[in-house]
Amino acid sequence: MITTKQKERSEILKSLEGQCKVFIVGCGECATACKTGGEEEVKEMKAFLEANGKVVTGFVIPDAPCVSSQTRTALGKNKKIVKESDAILVMACGLGAQCLKENLKEDKAVHVSNDTLFIGEIDREGNFLERCSACGECILELTGGICPVTRCSKGLMNGPCGGMDKGKCEVDRTLDCAWALIYNQLKEKGTLYLLKRYIPPKDYSKMQKPRSRIMKKAV
Ligand code: SF4
Ligand code: SF4
Repeated sequence: MITTKQKERSEILKSLEGQCKVFIVGCGECATACKTGGEEEVKEMKAFLEANGKVVTGFVIPDAPCVSSQTRTALGKNKKIVKESDAILVMACGLGAQCLKENLKEDKAVHVSNDTLFIGEIDREGNFLERCSACGECILELTGGICPVTRCSKGLMNGPCGGMDKGKCEVDRTLDCAWALIYNQLKEKGTLYLLKRYIPPKDYSKMQKPRSRIMKKAV
């Protein structure tokens, strides 16, 4: 899940200065779950923009605007109103916004209504929690399924720092120390021997941006 939060309304209005006719693109997956770009939020945004003198020419909510084929289909079905619009407001993550821009044939201004935060897990209470930093070299097998790259505030790879106190992190006492969680998990599973294995420093070349995974086979 790509986690997003909506920008301040005043900031969104500012980005649309000088552009009257706005077409809105929402997101049926992550932004719907985050309540930043589902049907309810798109309709709220439409009402807000109209109350502030804008003309909302229409809206569409592809299941996943980060998938080119879906974005192309959504734009194709709304070709006429997109053409008549001055700007497009994307209520998705930065990925969805860029995918839309890349697939847009018209020369239109594209604006974002959301800030993109992190890859998040949704817990039972509906909170979004960062659990993976997409490091490109997963070590969960060695750490009881708990990611120290993401959950240790210092990203330590071989056990806790000296500041851990009663299982809490010294950087933020409200958080569990990732290495205390890892230790407890391995102990419970009878796999504490895994801690004897040295985990080498992260190979940050695997995180060098921009990354891509080309699926097309070489001919
Ligand atoms: S080690 Fe952590 S950051 Fe890397 S892929 Fe696994 S879960 Fe994600
Ligand atoms: S207390 Fe634990 S989670 Fe916090 S920085 Fe130290 S090792 Fe990492």
